[in-house]
Amino acid sequence: MDAAAVRSPLQHILRFHDDLTAIRRDLHAHPELGFEEVRTAGIAADELNALGIEIHAGIGKTGLVGVIRGRQCDSGRMVGLRADMDALPMTEANTFGHCSRKPGLMHGCGHDGHTTMLLGAARYLAATRNFDGTVALIFQPAEEGRGGAQAMIEDGLFDTFPCDAIYAMHNWPALPPGTLGINPGPMMAAADRFEIVIHGRGGHGAHPYQTCDPVLMAAHTITALQSIVSRNVNPLDSAVVSVGSMQAGHPGAMSVIPNEARLVGTVRSFRRSVQEMVEARMRTVAQSVAQAFGGTADVTYERIYPATLNTPHEADFLADLATRMLGPERVVRDLQPSMGSEDFSFMLQHKPGAYFRLGQGGAEEGRVLHNASYDFNDAILPVGSALFCALAEQRMPLAA
Ligand SMILES: [Zn+2]
Ligand SMILES: [Zn+2]
Repeated sequence: MDAAAVRSPLQHILRFHDDLTAIRRDLHAHPELGFEEVRTAGIAADELNALGIEIHAGIGKTGLVGVIRGRQCDSGRMVGLRADMDALPMTEANTFGHCSRKPGLMHGCGHDGHTTMLLGAARYLAATRNFDGTVALIFQPAEEGRGGAQAMIEDGLFDTFPCDAIYAMHNWPALPPGTLGINPGPMMAAADRFEIVIHGRGGHGAHPYQTCDPVLMAAHTITALQSIVSRNVNPLDSAVVSVGSMQAGHPGAMSVIPNEARLVGTVRSFRRSVQEMVEARMRTVAQSVAQAFGGTADVTYERIYPATLNTPHEADFLADLATRMLGPERVVRDLQPSMGSEDFSFMLQHKPGAYFRLGQGGAEEGRVLHNASYDFNDAILPVGSALFCALAEQRMPLAA
């Protein structure tokens, strides 16, 4: 990899930094929820159209794919670059000129910035086409819990666009602006949801011996569930079990023991074997605790998002490239994984690839992702676009 060639997209893209900032702020002012990104996808389509890029709309409802063929296509290679487009149902606390025009909706995760960075990459790649192969620009809807990646895959994303490798980026307030963070394995955890319904027999709070108390069973179950991570998971592996909701009885009925109690929570893990063990232990613990008190428990366990697992070759390739573009002091190659989750994980189940973070600062002032005062840092737009462009050029180099 020639360092000058790796750096050249950035120099080019810096010339239209102002245009990218304007696009990003417009998207920020007009946030849309998952699968409702009609305006956002429309703006992306207009931009791609103006650049003469082939467009495939309606993949995963509001999803969009732009196709750029290189100056040569003989290699048959294809690289997929993915940006998410959706906003969050939250109220923005910022008051600057480009703050959300829609009450109760906000680009609180910076997907406005991701979309803009991919549009910046499109502008450079369409103008230069310095690669041998095809770039698929994947504008994905509904990353925030609505399964947009899965919807695109079900609509034949990788049948129509058989990428050899896929890449996605997320801005990261905890890293300084322009610093890249990645690792060659797990980046984010699998997110599962569980619901435990404990069945007892209700009655008078003054005569508990006539009942089978599900509230007491719920309390013991919550405590016993915490033994799974501390006693069953190997300490060198990682997992989280969190009960986020407990419901039973009525606050206005102090002397009514209810029939039922309900616990809802989440499990996070990186490895399939750990995930399976936690689920199995959860069923045993919940059912056995209930049985010990004379009741029963029904456990529903749903796997929502798989773990986001980078493939080592693709992650190392990107880290090497970023080192040449940004300098070694701006590349963190062993970034600690997060117990959060990300639906790019579904794409990584089909294709080799890597998910990486691009630092943007802000965490020190509390302007973290999903915070009402968060805002995407426009200063990192060109670097994000340039990383995408250099990936395309370096993974699919022109024949000499
Ligand atoms: Zn988010
Ligand atoms: Zn996000």
